[in-house]
Amino acid sequence: MTNAELNNFRPLPISDTHIHYLYAKPLEESLGIFKTFIEYFGMKSITLLSIAQGSGHRGFDPTCNIKGLYLKSRINGDGAARAYVYGSPIHFYDERDTAEGYLSQVEKMYELGVDGYKLLDGKPAMRKALGKPLCDPVFEGMYEFIEQKGMPLKIHMNDPRKYWGPKELLTPGQIARGWWCGDGTYPTFDEVYGELEAILTRHPKLKLCIAHMGYLTDDYPHAVRLLEQFENLTFDLTPGAATFKSFTDNPELWSEFLERYSHRIFLGSDTYNLIEDTEENVARGIFERSGGRITLVRRMLEHRAEDSFEYAPFGTLRPINLPDGMLKNIYTENALRLHGEGREINRSAAIREAERLHYELSHGAYPEFNPEELPLELSNLELIIKHFS
Ligand SMILES: [Zn+2]
Repeated sequence: MTNAELNNFRPLPISDTHIHYLYAKPLEESLGIFKTFIEYFGMKSITLLSIAQGSGHRGFDPTCNIKGLYLKSRINGDGAARAYVYGSPIHFYDERDTAEGYLSQVEKMYELGVDGYKLLDGKPAMRKALGKPLCDPVFEGMYEFIEQKGMPLKIHMNDPRKYWGPKELLTPGQIARGWWCGDGTYPTFDEVYGELEAILTRHPKLKLCIAHMGYLTDDYPHAVRLLEQFENLTFDLTPGAATFKSFTDNPELWSEFLERYSHRIFLGSDTYNLIEDTEENVARGIFERSGGRITLVRRMLEHRAEDSFEYAPFGTLRPINLPDGMLKNIYTENALRLHGEGREINRSAAIREAERLHYELSHGAYPEFNPEELPLELSNLELIIKHFS
């Protein structure tokens, strides 16, 4: 059974523009998981977003970018689906963080053949650690390069506004991940949006996509104002399920919004290189827990209002039953229009990069890197070198 059959979805392929692969696993295992998901969820394309640092799931992984290129190469080579990969920068949080450094990181990623760039830096803990605004002059050269090359840029902006409020509003799990930011030491939600607007004002051609609907579905006028003011700005529908609580509460408003902007909204799920389902489900070829957010998004967009369902902690969610034409934009057309055939991987540059990382990791160049993960990542790098040779 596929995800579409199991959930009574329409026979439409999907392009998931928000997938991560940051769990520490042998590359062959991650590849197998993604191939399984591509088939099960009916994916026409996937966008693998590198997160080299700052995720709640894994601290620091300088090999993330090059592993993404390997996965892209293997998935495209097998014709399973079209895979795109976005690179991400590394911060040192010291005097090594220079304008030249940020520019040369993105230039190198572009030379390697990434399809876009991913910034997690608008997330409260990342933004706080950065100690400077997202529009700081140190990032100017990087943004200018991304704009000039027409590289898609995916940015994580803020978190739900309530995370700045009283701690009791968060679940223990959210607090444990360090997501509460209401102690007065974090830049505010609105400050960080002000920084983004400063970037977009200087670089109006940036193909910038804000993940998770920018946590703005509790502020419809703000979301509309951004889209109207910056014509190249887009959003992805990756949960935060609070988005779907907003859809439930104001179905006409948001259906109209999605209709008006269906060419600027992408499907995304935050699916990982992780199989989480019960053994019984996996034996039946069902991966509803591992890719459960895909099911959540599709249920909300495709099913009828009477097919409402319970979703903790938001209570009842009510689907909005969009027409096929809009879904085609959101599900596949926008992603294909944005990425096209995808960029070619520079195999010799990829080998050099993997060799450099191999040397640096084995010589202790990254004190933040977890030494227990060293044998795994060294063998992953060796596989990459072999593959591209
Ligand atoms: Zn994500």
